[in-house]
Amino acid sequence: MNLSVVKQARRLVVKVGSSLVTADGRGLDHQALARWAEQIAALAAEGKEIVLVSSGAIAEGIARLGWKKRPRAVNELQAAAAIGQTGVVQAYESIFRAHGLLAAQVLLTHEDLADRTRYLNARSTLRTLLELRAVPIINENDTVATDEIRLGDNDTLGALVTNLIEADCLVILTDQPGLYTADPRKDPAATLVMEAHAGDPELERMAGGAGSSVGTGGMLTKILAAKRAARSGAHTVICSGREDRVLLRLAQGEAIGSQLVARQAPLAARRQWLADHLQLRGGVVLDAGAVRALIEDSKSLLPVGVKGVTGEFERGEVVAIVDTAGREIARGLTNYSANEARRIAGKPSSAIEAELGYVDEPELIHRDNLVVLG
Ligand code: GLU
Repeated sequence: MNLSVVKQARRLVVKVGSSLVTADGRGLDHQALARWAEQIAALAAEGKEIVLVSSGAIAEGIARLGWKKRPRAVNELQAAAAIGQTGVVQAYESIFRAHGLLAAQVLLTHEDLADRTRYLNARSTLRTLLELRAVPIINENDTVATDEIRLGDNDTLGALVTNLIEADCLVILTDQPGLYTADPRKDPAATLVMEAHAGDPELERMAGGAGSSVGTGGMLTKILAAKRAARSGAHTVICSGREDRVLLRLAQGEAIGSQLVARQAPLAARRQWLADHLQLRGGVVLDAGAVRALIEDSKSLLPVGVKGVTGEFERGEVVAIVDTAGREIARGLTNYSANEARRIAGKPSSAIEAELGYVDEPELIHRDNLVVLG
């Protein structure tokens, strides 16, 4: 395995969590921000391209409003995010400027990444910012994101951005030293996982559901983020952001925290985009034979293999392809709406015209528009 994933990376996404950014919710930790900015500036000077995904808007907003605890009402959280985000980005802007770097605020929602045109736009803007040697500072656009379009946590956002810009490595800075074999607060025998394969299901078991009270994600969302980032071939490091000179030491090849190494061949960009859709409105159910044909023979999905259709979707939407146990095995862009798919399910493609009165394509999902999920 490779213990110098950060050293070898040319393009990096660094994600910092709310508890680090806001000193466990007390308010912006300017010294911590200054330490990371100084390290990022040093790495940028060596030629690395770095995108920062920073949480902390809601936590900082709550601190500025003087609220004693995190509200539950979405409109209050969104108001807090709007107030806090200005503080977070202002702090980064002045610190990066002191290092001669321009900061660029980018706020994204799930919809920006699900829509192909907006996704490509976001990618091109981020690439341009990197060419301009600016430091993109990304957060979820919490103020407008409703539950249906929320990414929910910035670990996931960090992975999506990693895939979007085809970064080599995702560094998740958190308030824990890394992933432990069990919850160290409950199990004294727990040890730090120093290296593992991203996507190893055993890691999800280890991470359990432990979370922090300040941010949204726990260790599990970080493990799942590593699995997601690995789909574009990116490695992930999960380590403590409070560790002295952590980014510089990682970049020198020092092993700090947990390194989760990608071992699969990267998906092509278009398939990556399909795989990174977080919310699907429906899907099709396949029997075992159709599942086999899809996975082993890389075939298109024909209506004849479909046993059932769930949810509502339109032609051109991304839909889930699930087995009879309900496990999502693949997904793809459908040539027919849910209603049409219900009518042609289980029938040969030659019967589409008689059933619908027209034929768009003989396949329900063409193999070029399909990604099998590992
Ligand atoms: N986007 C949220 C914020 O900035 C944080 C989400 C998270 O904690 O992962 O406050």
